[in-house]
Amino acid sequence: MNIPISKPYFDECEDENILKPLHSGWVVQGKFVQEFQTLFASHVEVKYAHATTSCTTALHLALVALDIGADDEVIIPSFTYIATANVVEHVGAKPLFCDIELDSFNMDVSKIETLITKKTKVIIAVNLFGLCANLEEIIKLAKKYNLKVIEDSACGFDAWLGQKHSGTFGDIGCFSFHPRKSLCTGEGGMLITNDDELNSKIAQLKDHGASKSDMLRHKEGGSLLPEFNFAGFNYRMTDMQGALGVCQMKKASEIMCKKRILAKRYDEALKELNFLQVPTFSVEYVHGYQSYVCLFTDSQDVRNLTKEKIDIINIKRNIFMKKLESCGIATRQGTHAVHTLGFYKEKYDLKSEDFLMSYAADRLTIALPLYPQMSDEEFDYVVSQLKSCSNSE
Ligand SMILES: *Cc1c(COP(=O)(O)O)cnc(C)c1O
Repeated sequence: MNIPISKPYFDECEDENILKPLHSGWVVQGKFVQEFQTLFASHVEVKYAHATTSCTTALHLALVALDIGADDEVIIPSFTYIATANVVEHVGAKPLFCDIELDSFNMDVSKIETLITKKTKVIIAVNLFGLCANLEEIIKLAKKYNLKVIEDSACGFDAWLGQKHSGTFGDIGCFSFHPRKSLCTGEGGMLITNDDELNSKIAQLKDHGASKSDMLRHKEGGSLLPEFNFAGFNYRMTDMQGALGVCQMKKASEIMCKKRILAKRYDEALKELNFLQVPTFSVEYVHGYQSYVCLFTDSQDVRNLTKEKIDIINIKRNIFMKKLESCGIATRQGTHAVHTLGFYKEKYDLKSEDFLMSYAADRLTIALPLYPQMSDEEFDYVVSQLKSCSNSE
Protein backbone atom coordinates (compact mmCIF):
# COMPACT_ATOMS: atom_id res chain seq x y z
CA MET A 1 0.00 0.00 0.00
CA ASN A 2 1.17 3.54 -0.76
CA ILE A 3 -0.15 6.17 1.61
CA PRO A 4 0.73 9.84 1.08
CA ILE A 5 1.06 12.35 3.89
CA SER A 6 -1.89 14.31 2.45
CA LYS A 7 -3.94 14.66 -0.69
CA PRO A 8 -6.16 17.48 -1.99
CA TYR A 9 -9.87 16.61 -1.99
CA PHE A 10 -11.11 17.31 -5.51
CA ASP A 11 -14.19 15.95 -7.31
CA GLU A 12 -16.51 16.83 -10.23
CA CYS A 13 -17.07 20.33 -8.84
CA GLU A 14 -13.42 21.28 -9.44
CA ASP A 15 -13.38 19.40 -12.78
CA GLU A 16 -16.25 21.53 -14.05
CA ASN A 17 -15.53 24.85 -12.37
CA ILE A 18 -11.92 25.17 -13.45
CA LEU A 19 -12.97 25.22 -17.10
CA LYS A 20 -15.46 28.04 -16.69
CA PRO A 21 -12.90 30.88 -16.57
CA LEU A 22 -11.15 29.33 -19.59
CA HIS A 23 -14.39 29.39 -21.55
CA SER A 24 -15.44 32.88 -20.46
CA GLY A 25 -11.97 34.33 -21.02
CA TRP A 26 -11.93 36.15 -17.67
CA VAL A 27 -8.98 34.34 -16.08
CA VAL A 28 -7.63 36.65 -13.37
CA GLN A 29 -9.30 37.88 -10.19
CA GLY A 30 -12.84 37.75 -11.58
CA LYS A 31 -16.18 36.55 -10.31
CA PHE A 32 -14.87 33.23 -8.93
CA VAL A 33 -12.19 34.93 -6.86
CA GLN A 34 -14.86 37.29 -5.60
CA GLU A 35 -17.19 34.42 -4.68
CA PHE A 36 -14.33 32.56 -2.99
CA GLN A 37 -13.49 35.65 -0.93
CA THR A 38 -17.14 36.08 0.08
CA LEU A 39 -17.55 32.43 1.09
CA PHE A 40 -14.27 32.50 3.03
CA ALA A 41 -15.09 35.76 4.85
CA SER A 42 -18.45 34.38 5.86
CA HIS A 43 -16.98 31.10 7.17
CA VAL A 44 -14.37 32.82 9.34
CA GLU A 45 -16.71 35.70 10.23
CA VAL A 46 -14.58 38.59 9.08
CA LYS A 47 -15.33 41.82 7.20
CA TYR A 48 -12.73 41.63 4.42
CA ALA A 49 -10.97 38.77 2.63
CA HIS A 50 -8.40 39.17 -0.16
CA ALA A 51 -7.31 36.20 -2.23
CA THR A 52 -3.57 36.19 -2.97
CA THR A 53 -1.07 34.01 -4.81
CA SER A 54 0.05 32.30 -1.57
CA CYS A 55 0.12 32.67 2.19
CA THR A 56 3.70 33.90 1.87
CA THR A 57 2.64 36.81 -0.36
CA ALA A 58 -0.30 37.50 1.98
CA LEU A 59 2.16 37.75 4.90
CA HIS A 60 4.41 40.03 2.88
CA LEU A 61 1.44 42.26 2.04
CA ALA A 62 0.49 42.34 5.71
CA LEU A 63 3.93 43.59 6.78
CA VAL A 64 4.03 46.21 4.01
CA ALA A 65 0.50 47.37 4.84
CA LEU A 66 1.60 47.88 8.45
CA ASP A 67 4.62 49.94 7.23
CA ILE A 68 7.20 47.50 8.63
CA GLY A 69 10.69 48.03 7.26
CA ALA A 70 14.37 48.50 8.04
CA ASP A 71 15.15 49.06 11.74
CA ASP A 72 11.95 47.31 12.79
CA GLU A 73 11.83 44.01 14.66
CA VAL A 74 9.20 41.32 14.32
CA ILE A 75 8.69 38.55 16.88
CA ILE A 76 8.09 35.11 15.36
CA PRO A 77 8.17 31.57 16.76
CA SER A 78 11.42 29.69 16.14
CA PHE A 79 9.43 26.57 15.16
CA THR A 80 7.44 27.38 12.01
CA TYR A 81 7.62 27.11 8.25
CA ILE A 82 10.54 29.21 6.98
CA ALA A 83 8.19 31.56 5.07
CA THR A 84 7.19 33.22 8.37
CA ALA A 85 10.79 34.39 8.79
CA ASN A 86 11.51 35.04 5.12
CA VAL A 87 8.80 37.70 4.77
CA VAL A 88 10.34 39.61 7.67
CA GLU A 89 13.68 39.59 5.82
CA HIS A 90 11.92 40.67 2.61
CA VAL A 91 10.78 43.97 4.18
CA GLY A 92 14.27 44.53 5.63
CA ALA A 93 13.19 43.98 9.24
CA LYS A 94 14.78 41.68 11.80
CA PRO A 95 13.08 38.50 13.04
CA LEU A 96 13.27 37.95 16.80
CA PHE A 97 12.84 34.26 17.49
CA CYS A 98 10.65 33.11 20.36
CA ASP A 99 10.73 29.52 21.61
CA ILE A 100 7.63 27.34 21.65
CA GLU A 101 5.79 25.02 24.04
CA LEU A 102 6.27 21.37 23.24
CA ASP A 103 2.65 20.40 23.94
CA SER A 104 0.99 22.88 21.56
CA PHE A 105 3.98 23.50 19.22
CA ASN A 106 2.98 27.18 19.41
CA MET A 107 4.79 30.24 20.76
CA ASP A 108 5.61 30.18 24.48
CA VAL A 109 3.89 33.38 25.55
CA SER A 110 5.97 33.63 28.74
CA LYS A 111 9.06 34.19 26.57
CA ILE A 112 7.70 37.06 24.45
CA GLU A 113 8.02 39.99 26.84
CA THR A 114 11.79 39.76 27.33
CA LEU A 115 12.28 39.99 23.56
CA ILE A 116 10.48 43.31 23.14
CA THR A 117 12.65 46.40 22.50
CA LYS A 118 11.93 49.93 21.25
CA LYS A 119 12.31 48.64 17.69
CA THR A 120 9.76 45.84 18.01
CA LYS A 121 6.63 46.55 15.97
CA VAL A 122 4.84 43.29 15.26
CA ILE A 123 4.24 39.81 16.65
CA ILE A 124 3.54 37.17 14.03
CA ALA A 125 1.55 34.53 15.88
CA VAL A 126 1.59 31.20 14.05
CA ASN A 127 -1.39 28.86 14.50
CA LEU A 128 0.61 25.77 13.74
CA PHE A 129 -0.82 22.55 12.30
CA GLY A 130 -4.37 23.88 12.77
CA LEU A 131 -4.17 24.74 16.47
CA CYS A 132 -4.59 28.37 17.53
CA ALA A 133 -1.70 29.88 19.45
CA ASN A 134 -2.41 31.39 22.87
CA LEU A 135 -3.92 34.34 21.02
CA GLU A 136 -5.71 35.99 23.92
CA GLU A 137 -2.46 36.40 25.85
CA ILE A 138 -0.58 37.48 22.72
CA ILE A 139 -3.17 40.19 22.03
CA LYS A 140 -2.93 41.38 25.65
CA LEU A 141 0.85 41.72 25.37
CA ALA A 142 0.56 43.45 22.01
CA LYS A 143 -1.85 46.01 23.48
CA LYS A 144 0.44 46.61 26.45
CA TYR A 145 3.43 47.36 24.20
CA ASN A 146 1.50 48.91 21.31
CA LEU A 147 2.47 46.18 18.84
CA LYS A 148 0.54 44.96 15.81
CA VAL A 149 -0.37 41.28 15.48
CA ILE A 150 -0.33 39.30 12.26
CA GLU A 151 -1.58 35.73 12.42
CA ASP A 152 0.20 33.27 10.19
CA SER A 153 -2.78 30.98 9.92
CA ALA A 154 -1.47 29.13 6.87
CA CYS A 155 -2.52 25.91 8.63
CA GLY A 156 -5.39 27.48 10.53
CA PHE A 157 -8.47 26.93 8.39
CA ASP A 158 -11.45 26.05 10.64
CA ALA A 159 -9.29 26.38 13.76
CA TRP A 160 -11.20 28.12 16.52
CA LEU A 161 -10.44 29.51 19.95
CA GLY A 162 -13.59 30.15 21.95
CA GLN A 163 -16.12 31.60 19.53
CA LYS A 164 -13.53 33.08 17.17
CA HIS A 165 -11.88 31.69 14.07
CA SER A 166 -8.10 31.76 13.75
CA GLY A 167 -6.84 34.81 11.88
CA THR A 168 -9.48 37.15 13.37
CA PHE A 169 -7.69 37.91 16.65
CA GLY A 170 -4.88 40.01 15.25
CA ASP A 171 -4.91 42.98 12.87
CA ILE A 172 -4.44 40.73 9.86
CA GLY A 173 -4.70 36.95 9.31
CA CYS A 174 -3.13 34.99 6.44
CA PHE A 175 -4.11 31.54 5.12
CA SER A 176 -2.65 29.05 2.62
CA PHE A 177 -4.25 26.81 0.01
CA HIS A 178 -1.12 24.83 -0.79
CA PRO A 179 -1.77 21.07 -1.28
CA ARG A 180 -0.47 20.31 2.23
CA LYS A 181 -3.23 22.44 3.80
CA SER A 182 -6.89 21.52 4.45
CA LEU A 183 -8.23 23.49 1.47
CA CYS A 184 -6.33 23.56 -1.82
CA THR A 185 -6.33 25.77 -4.90
CA GLY A 186 -2.93 24.59 -6.22
CA GLU A 187 -1.01 27.56 -4.88
CA GLY A 188 -3.04 30.30 -3.21
CA GLY A 189 -3.60 32.35 -0.09
CA MET A 190 -6.09 34.58 1.69
CA LEU A 191 -5.54 37.71 3.76
CA ILE A 192 -8.30 38.76 6.15
CA THR A 193 -8.89 41.87 8.24
CA ASN A 194 -11.68 43.77 9.96
CA ASP A 195 -9.88 47.11 9.60
CA ASP A 196 -11.34 49.47 6.94
CA GLU A 197 -8.11 51.37 6.36
CA LEU A 198 -5.90 48.30 6.12
CA ASN A 199 -8.44 46.73 3.80
CA SER A 200 -8.30 49.60 1.34
CA LYS A 201 -4.51 49.71 1.43
CA ILE A 202 -4.20 45.95 0.92
CA ALA A 203 -6.66 45.93 -2.00
CA GLN A 204 -4.37 48.40 -3.76
CA LEU A 205 -1.04 46.89 -2.70
CA LYS A 206 -1.89 43.46 -4.05
CA ASP A 207 -2.93 44.97 -7.42
CA HIS A 208 0.19 46.99 -8.41
CA GLY A 209 -1.01 49.86 -6.20
CA ALA A 210 -4.01 50.53 -8.47
CA SER A 211 -6.76 52.54 -6.82
CA LYS A 212 -9.43 50.55 -8.68
CA SER A 213 -9.52 46.88 -9.61
CA ASP A 214 -9.93 45.69 -13.22
CA MET A 215 -13.34 44.30 -12.30
CA LEU A 216 -14.54 47.61 -10.98
CA ARG A 217 -13.25 49.50 -14.03
CA HIS A 218 -14.89 46.93 -16.28
CA LYS A 219 -18.21 47.32 -14.49
CA GLU A 220 -18.06 51.11 -14.64
CA GLY A 221 -17.16 50.94 -18.32
CA GLY A 222 -14.19 53.24 -17.83
CA SER A 223 -11.44 53.11 -20.43
CA LEU A 224 -9.17 55.37 -18.38
CA LEU A 225 -6.47 53.81 -16.22
CA PRO A 226 -6.75 54.18 -12.44
CA GLU A 227 -4.55 56.24 -10.13
CA PHE A 228 -1.61 54.47 -8.45
CA ASN A 229 -0.92 55.55 -4.89
CA PHE A 230 1.51 52.81 -3.82
CA ALA A 231 4.44 50.94 -5.35
CA GLY A 232 2.40 47.75 -5.18
CA PHE A 233 2.82 44.10 -6.11
CA ASN A 234 1.02 41.66 -8.32
CA TYR A 235 -0.28 39.17 -5.76
CA ARG A 236 -3.64 38.58 -7.46
CA MET A 237 -5.15 35.12 -7.56
CA THR A 238 -6.20 33.70 -10.94
CA ASP A 239 -9.88 32.94 -11.53
CA MET A 240 -9.04 29.27 -12.19
CA GLN A 241 -7.74 29.09 -8.61
CA GLY A 242 -10.78 31.06 -7.46
CA ALA A 243 -13.02 28.49 -9.18
CA LEU A 244 -11.27 25.71 -7.23
CA GLY A 245 -11.57 27.74 -4.03
CA VAL A 246 -15.34 28.08 -4.46
CA CYS A 247 -15.68 24.28 -4.69
CA GLN A 248 -13.37 23.80 -1.70
CA MET A 249 -15.46 26.21 0.40
CA LYS A 250 -18.66 24.41 -0.59
CA LYS A 251 -17.34 21.14 0.80
CA ALA A 252 -15.25 22.65 3.61
CA SER A 253 -17.48 21.25 6.33
CA GLU A 254 -17.31 17.77 4.79
CA ILE A 255 -13.49 18.00 4.52
CA MET A 256 -13.13 19.15 8.11
CA CYS A 257 -15.61 16.63 9.46
CA LYS A 258 -13.80 13.73 7.80
CA LYS A 259 -10.39 14.95 8.98
CA ARG A 260 -11.63 15.37 12.55
CA ILE A 261 -13.11 11.86 12.62
CA LEU A 262 -9.77 10.43 11.47
CA ALA A 263 -7.88 12.51 14.02
CA LYS A 264 -10.13 11.17 16.77
CA ARG A 265 -9.53 7.63 15.57
CA TYR A 266 -5.77 8.24 15.68
CA ASP A 267 -6.14 9.60 19.24
CA GLU A 268 -7.87 6.39 20.28
CA ALA A 269 -5.71 3.95 18.35
CA LEU A 270 -2.39 5.49 19.44
CA LYS A 271 -3.25 5.75 23.14
CA GLU A 272 -1.48 2.47 23.87
CA LEU A 273 1.74 3.53 22.13
CA ASN A 274 3.74 5.23 24.87
CA PHE A 275 6.57 6.21 22.53
CA LEU A 276 4.24 8.61 20.67
CA GLN A 277 2.56 11.65 22.20
CA VAL A 278 -0.61 12.62 20.30
CA PRO A 279 -1.85 16.25 19.96
CA THR A 280 -3.39 17.61 23.15
CA PHE A 281 -5.12 20.93 23.83
CA SER A 282 -7.68 22.36 26.22
CA VAL A 283 -11.43 22.52 25.60
CA GLU A 284 -11.62 26.14 24.36
CA TYR A 285 -9.64 25.10 21.30
CA VAL A 286 -11.13 23.51 18.19
CA HIS A 287 -8.26 21.89 16.28
CA GLY A 288 -8.27 22.27 12.49
CA TYR A 289 -5.89 19.29 11.97
CA GLN A 290 -4.08 20.70 8.94
CA SER A 291 -1.82 17.86 9.93
CA TYR A 292 -1.78 15.30 12.71
CA VAL A 293 1.57 15.82 14.42
CA CYS A 294 2.84 13.56 17.20
CA LEU A 295 5.92 13.82 19.37
CA PHE A 296 8.21 10.80 19.16
CA THR A 297 9.36 10.42 22.77
CA ASP A 298 10.83 6.90 22.63
CA SER A 299 8.83 6.33 25.85
CA GLN A 300 11.06 8.80 27.70
CA ASP A 301 10.18 11.69 29.95
CA VAL A 302 10.45 14.76 27.72
CA ARG A 303 10.13 17.33 30.48
CA ASN A 304 13.86 17.73 31.02
CA LEU A 305 15.26 17.50 27.54
CA THR A 306 18.84 18.39 26.75
CA LYS A 307 20.33 18.74 23.29
CA GLU A 308 22.20 15.45 23.78
CA LYS A 309 19.03 13.61 24.76
CA ILE A 310 17.13 15.12 21.82
CA ASP A 311 19.86 13.99 19.43
CA ILE A 312 19.70 10.42 20.72
CA ILE A 313 15.90 10.17 20.43
CA ASN A 314 16.12 11.88 17.02
CA ILE A 315 18.17 8.99 15.63
CA LYS A 316 15.45 6.55 16.73
CA ARG A 317 12.69 8.72 15.25
CA ASN A 318 14.50 8.82 11.93
CA ILE A 319 14.85 5.03 11.88
CA PHE A 320 11.13 4.74 12.69
CA MET A 321 10.23 7.10 9.82
CA LYS A 322 12.48 5.16 7.43
CA LYS A 323 10.78 1.89 8.38
CA LEU A 324 7.35 3.42 7.77
CA GLU A 325 8.55 4.72 4.43
CA SER A 326 9.67 1.24 3.42
CA CYS A 327 6.11 0.04 4.22
CA GLY A 328 4.74 2.70 1.85
CA ILE A 329 3.66 5.15 4.55
CA ALA A 330 4.72 8.75 4.10
CA THR A 331 5.48 10.74 7.25
CA ARG A 332 7.23 14.09 7.77
CA GLN A 333 8.78 16.01 10.60
CA GLY A 334 6.19 18.61 11.74
CA THR A 335 8.07 21.66 10.43
CA HIS A 336 11.41 23.42 10.97
CA ALA A 337 13.31 24.98 13.81
CA VAL A 338 14.03 28.02 11.63
CA HIS A 339 16.95 29.18 13.80
CA THR A 340 18.82 25.99 12.80
CA LEU A 341 18.42 26.58 9.05
CA GLY A 342 21.49 27.81 7.15
CA PHE A 343 20.50 31.40 6.37
CA TYR A 344 19.18 32.28 9.83
CA LYS A 345 21.75 30.29 11.72
CA GLU A 346 24.57 32.15 9.98
CA LYS A 347 23.08 35.62 9.74
CA TYR A 348 22.14 35.78 13.43
CA ASP A 349 24.82 33.41 14.75
CA LEU A 350 22.32 31.07 16.42
CA LYS A 351 22.87 27.71 18.10
CA SER A 352 20.45 24.78 18.15
CA GLU A 353 20.08 25.01 21.93
CA ASP A 354 19.21 28.74 21.86
CA PHE A 355 15.58 27.67 21.36
CA LEU A 356 15.62 24.18 22.79
CA MET A 357 11.91 23.32 22.57
CA SER A 358 11.89 24.34 18.90
CA TYR A 359 14.94 22.18 18.34
CA ALA A 360 13.16 19.28 20.09
CA ALA A 361 10.03 19.79 17.98
CA ASP A 362 12.12 19.82 14.81
CA ARG A 363 13.97 16.62 15.72
CA LEU A 364 11.18 14.66 17.43
CA THR A 365 7.90 15.42 15.63
CA ILE A 366 6.27 13.10 13.18
CA ALA A 367 3.25 14.05 11.05
CA LEU A 368 1.02 11.09 10.13
CA PRO A 369 -0.98 10.68 6.91
CA LEU A 370 -4.31 12.56 7.09
CA TYR A 371 -6.67 13.45 4.27
CA PRO A 372 -10.47 13.38 3.97
CA GLN A 373 -10.67 10.53 1.45
CA MET A 374 -8.46 8.21 3.54
CA SER A 375 -10.17 4.78 3.56
CA ASP A 376 -10.67 2.51 6.57
CA GLU A 377 -8.27 0.06 4.98
CA GLU A 378 -5.59 2.76 4.61
CA PHE A 379 -6.16 4.01 8.15
CA ASP A 380 -5.96 0.53 9.69
CA TYR A 381 -2.82 -0.20 7.70
CA VAL A 382 -1.10 2.94 9.03
CA VAL A 383 -2.02 2.11 12.62
CA SER A 384 -0.88 -1.50 12.33
CA GLN A 385 2.45 -0.43 10.84
CA LEU A 386 2.95 2.25 13.52
CA LYS A 387 2.64 -0.56 16.04
CA SER A 388 4.83 -3.12 14.32
CA CYS A 389 7.56 -0.72 13.11
CA SER A 390 8.23 0.31 16.68
CA ASN A 391 8.72 -3.28 17.85
CA SER A 392 11.08 -4.60 15.21
CA GLU A 393 14.75 -3.68 15.35
C1 LIG B 1 2.49 26.47 4.48
C2 LIG B 1 2.91 27.55 5.38
C3 LIG B 1 3.28 28.82 4.89
C4 LIG B 1 3.43 29.10 3.43
O1 LIG B 1 2.22 29.02 2.72
P1 LIG B 1 2.29 29.17 1.12
O2 LIG B 1 0.84 29.30 0.72
O3 LIG B 1 2.91 27.91 0.61
O4 LIG B 1 3.07 30.37 0.81
C5 LIG B 1 3.58 29.81 5.80
N1 LIG B 1 3.55 29.60 7.13
C6 LIG B 1 3.20 28.38 7.63
C7 LIG B 1 3.14 28.21 9.13
C8 LIG B 1 2.89 27.32 6.77
O5 LIG B 1 2.58 26.13 7.29
